[in-house]
Order: sequence, then C-alpha cells, then structure tokens
Amino acid sequence: MRLLLVEDDVMVASGIKLGLSDAGYAVDWVGSAERAEDVLQNETFDIAVIDLGLPKLDGLELTRRLRCNGLTMPVLILTARDALCDRVQGLDLGADDYLLKPFELPELLARLRALLRRSQAATSATLSFGALQLDTANHEARANGQSIELGPREWTAIEYLLIHAPKPVNKNKLLQAMTGWDKGITLNAIEVYMSRLRGKLEPHGIGVRCIRGFGYRLELLEALPDARAE
Ligand code: CA
Repeated sequence: MRLLLVEDDVMVASGIKLGLSDAGYAVDWVGSAERAEDVLQNETFDIAVIDLGLPKLDGLELTRRLRCNGLTMPVLILTARDALCDRVQGLDLGADDYLLKPFELPELLARLRALLRRSQAATSATLSFGALQLDTANHEARANGQSIELGPREWTAIEYLLIHAPKPVNKNKLLQAMTGWDKGITLNAIEVYMSRLRGKLEPHGIGVRCIRGFGYRLELLEALPDARAE
C-alpha cells in the first residue's frame, strides 16, 4: 500500500515512517500541505496520514482541498488537539478518521487497516482469492492449509493485486505501491517479482496474468465447479 505522510515534525515523521515501512507500507513523506498538494497532482496514493498542525495551511484545509479536487483516498488526521469542534470540522471537511497524539504504532496500523478495508468495501482483515488467503492483521499468507513465504515487496504486490482482483492493476500504480520514492525499483524489475509470485501461487491454482501495455491481474488457473466470477 502506498501511503502519503504529511507531517512537519521531523522526529515524529521519521518514527511513523519507520514503523509503517516495517509493516509493509511504501511511505512517502512531505513536510507541508503545499508540498502534499504538489505531489498529489501527479501521483496516486492508497491512503494519507495528515497532521492537523502544519505550517501555513493546516491539515484540515489540506483535507478540504483534496476532497474539492475529487481525491477519494482515505484520510487519517493526526492531532494533538482534543477539541471536539476540530474533530467535527475535520470529519465535515472529508477526513475519515482521527488519531490523537501521542499514539502507539499498533493503534495507527489497526486504524489504517480499517480505513483501507472500508475504502475497498472488504469486511474482514483477510483478503482472499481462490485458495489464497492473506491475513493482513497477522501478516500471514496461506493457501490449501500451507503457509506461503513472501518477501516484503512480494507481500505488497500480492496485497495490491488481491484488493483489486479480479480487475487488472496498472503497472505504474503497482510500482508506486511497492516502492514509494526513495527505494526505487524499475518497471522492468516488477516482472521479476511477478515471476517469483507465479512460482509461489501457481501450485495453488492462482496465476498472475500480464496484460500487455497495462499491468497485471490475478486469475484462477483451474475454474472450480462452484467458483463463479462476480
Ligand atoms: Ca505538526
């Protein structure tokens, strides 16, 4: 999942970035609302974490502008202010959730998962496709009773594909979800990850189909009698 972090406090931001990166998010960090607006004009994120107290434009105004510009990604606001009117105002302006500083990382992770599930209309922390089950809360992949070992980028890729399955995902967006800005892998390298995933998933009847000029999608290699595509 690609996450945009908007936070002006360097210490807080690097702590959050470290924690979220360890949890498998591709985190890109900007220190101001203005910079966030610039970035969002050209790039796509799955979710945003926005500090309320930013220099010049604050997090509420940023959220309002994002919604005005038609951006629908979930937004979680971080705030040290406990005032009810701030929260109500933030929700009115289009934020999806709040977290009061200071907070513990597991709580932030749980709230992000809940927001992502809500935005993808999934009802549980487990994503599934065919025999594959991805337990996002426990970071565990299983199929046919067997555990599947996935590296961090493989995990991010399969999670992204699963969330969108059976629809195809754009290769550029998949790349962004896998890397963010600062640990770049190339578009060509994605095929290496996809072929590793094929090696792990095909024994369980799941294929990763390359759609030329666009990207990838998951497919069931053997249609079971009771499996029906939506
Ligand atoms: Ca701040």
